[in-house]
Amino acid sequence: MQQVLDSPVSNIYGVGEERAKELAGLGIHTIRELLEYFPSRYEDYRVRDLMDVKDGERVTLAGTVYGEPSVRFYGKRKSRISVRMVINRVVVMAVWFNQPYIKKQIAPGKEIIVTGKWDKHKLQITVSEMTEVDSERAQKRGDLVPVYPLGGEITLAFLRKTIERGLQKYGKYLEEILPEEIVARYRLMPRAEAIQTVHFPENMEEGRRARRRIMFEELFLFQLKMQALRRINRQQQKGMAQQIPMEEVRAFVKSLPYPLTNAQKRVVKEILDDMQAPYSMNRLLQGDVGSGKTVVAAIALYASVKAGYQGALMVPTEILAEQHVQSLQGLLEPLGLQVALLSGSLTAKKRREIIAALQMGMIDVVVGTHALIQEDVFFRDLGLVITDEQHRFGVEQRRILRSKGMSPDVLFMTATPIPRTLAITAFGDMDVSTIDEMPAGRKPIETTWAKHEQFHQVLEQMRGELRRGRQAYVICPLIEESEKLDVQNAIDVHVQLQQFFPEYKVGLMHGRLPAKEKDEVMQSFASGETQVLVSTTVVEVGVNVPNATFMAIYDAERFGLAQLHQLRGRVGRGAEQSYCVLIADPKSEVGKERMRIMCETNDGFELSRRDLELRGPGDFFGTKQSGLPEFKVADLLSDYKALEVARQEATELVAQDTFWKEARFAPLRDYLQREGVLEGVIFD
Ligand code: ADP
Ligand code: MG
Repeated sequence: MQQVLDSPVSNIYGVGEERAKELAGLGIHTIRELLEYFPSRYEDYRVRDLMDVKDGERVTLAGTVYGEPSVRFYGKRKSRISVRMVINRVVVMAVWFNQPYIKKQIAPGKEIIVTGKWDKHKLQITVSEMTEVDSERAQKRGDLVPVYPLGGEITLAFLRKTIERGLQKYGKYLEEILPEEIVARYRLMPRAEAIQTVHFPENMEEGRRARRRIMFEELFLFQLKMQALRRINRQQQKGMAQQIPMEEVRAFVKSLPYPLTNAQKRVVKEILDDMQAPYSMNRLLQGDVGSGKTVVAAIALYASVKAGYQGALMVPTEILAEQHVQSLQGLLEPLGLQVALLSGSLTAKKRREIIAALQMGMIDVVVGTHALIQEDVFFRDLGLVITDEQHRFGVEQRRILRSKGMSPDVLFMTATPIPRTLAITAFGDMDVSTIDEMPAGRKPIETTWAKHEQFHQVLEQMRGELRRGRQAYVICPLIEESEKLDVQNAIDVHVQLQQFFPEYKVGLMHGRLPAKEKDEVMQSFASGETQVLVSTTVVEVGVNVPNATFMAIYDAERFGLAQLHQLRGRVGRGAEQSYCVLIADPKSEVGKERMRIMCETNDGFELSRRDLELRGPGDFFGTKQSGLPEFKVADLLSDYKALEVARQEATELVAQDTFWKEARFAPLRDYLQREGVLEGVIFD
């Protein structure tokens, strides 16, 4: 009988063509969508005792009109009515703005219920709604009235009425969708009851219980979708089961100049297990800045090459590509692997050579920006693709890979630690590996916050580091003067610093330098020939110069927390104590809080958790590209426990054969079908 619910909302009495159009604007086309259009909150019309009401609160009070109302008109169509009332034996003033017709309804002695804002000091209520105590409306009216998000011409009253009618007529068709054992285990309200109740609860407690059920269902269905996708990927996508010679991999790990941390060992195992399995890996590797993701990538690439495939490492910037090529060459070439760079700055001839070599299988590992998988580039046998900074490698790139007939194992690396709740939501269909441990011997970076007027003191502190033979970064937000933004630019600072440090070489790096010049600047800094590097955020990701121990971030309030943390991660990469100074005069409280958080913690996960608190999940990744689903009822911050539970249950459910066969799970399979998850999947 589900189809009845999928019939158009215009089947409901009172919903004509016009109204139906307006409802469509709210995303309501069918009766199901109407019934599942949930209130965002309730208006509380329970009559309160005046003694308990706080100043400024919106309340409903009952009392008797006492004295004649007085009306004052001023301006065009503006008026104010005031009348004395006795409420809980206190004489108070009730005031109505711009409702002159009210006067007729408030004769002395009348008992009325008023709802509005209470002013404790003036003993006055500014009334927005009123009813007479014995009116029909007062009898009928529930204490809690749902408030819905509105749009267009739709009024709250119309929506309430329409939903009420919809529930009366069609509520009986609402079926349970969750498996009964889950409903029982978590003591959830049955579905039909919950939907009825969430719209029209008897009291707050009931409303909360109904909301809890709906929230759980929402998270569960989302996780079910993710876990079903994962399972289908594992079962149906014919990935390659790479035959990895584990002995050789172990020998390689032993040959490294340092032992792996336990976290690195664990994630290496997770990754290699995936690569050896017959499905294609779809895994996110997250680890804080400096936690040692590169070497994990190198081990995976080595394993893939030893299994007879080629590997590719994709990075967001040319600078990073250069750097990764160097570190991978250092690690892999002594073992006889060919590592090449395919970047935009190559000559056409060189590029053609590399592409040909890739196609013939003469290059084992290639590093580049994402031009790497596009256009004219083909591999002989691509087994593993690793992308650094996963959010810049989108669905489109994955599609291109598949269109080339390849289904390599894919590993996404990110240094933007994502709180677990968000990770399992945004990347719900992926497996997640986390490096949650820093290599031994790292000293936490000491972060301080200075005002712009203290810039010279900061530079003196920097001079101290330079005298010890260390190097320093000065980061600036923009490269050109922009009156609008009034930001000190990198070029200016560069001039200033050259004057301040005549004894040192001060380099300048920004995005608009020609590629060749960028190279030279970077090389010069990496080799220690340049001691100070003034740079825009192009050094944000991945750059590794362990001798740099000092960073000043100019106009730090212009950066987000995640970005500040990334930037700061360029120092503290060696055994020496490192320092980071944030130069900022933030105006807002949130801006100040961000500076304080940076000074308090070096832990990327802790930082992102607090960032999330400051900003809320919607904002967390910046824009819409976040890939975070929008939930109607669930809140990722407060409902994270339910999210974990829902994920667990969904994972277990899709792993059972019975789920895909038994009739009692049909509503859930129907849901997956509607969501397009089962496209092309054949059940036996
Ligand atoms: P990120 O995770 O930010 O990419 P890197 O891979 O660049 O971090 O590693 C940061 C530094 O730590 C590098 O210089 C690397 O050689 C070093 N490193 C990585 N793993 C270890 C380890 N287990 N012990 C000591 N140093 C390590
Ligand atoms: Mg890195």
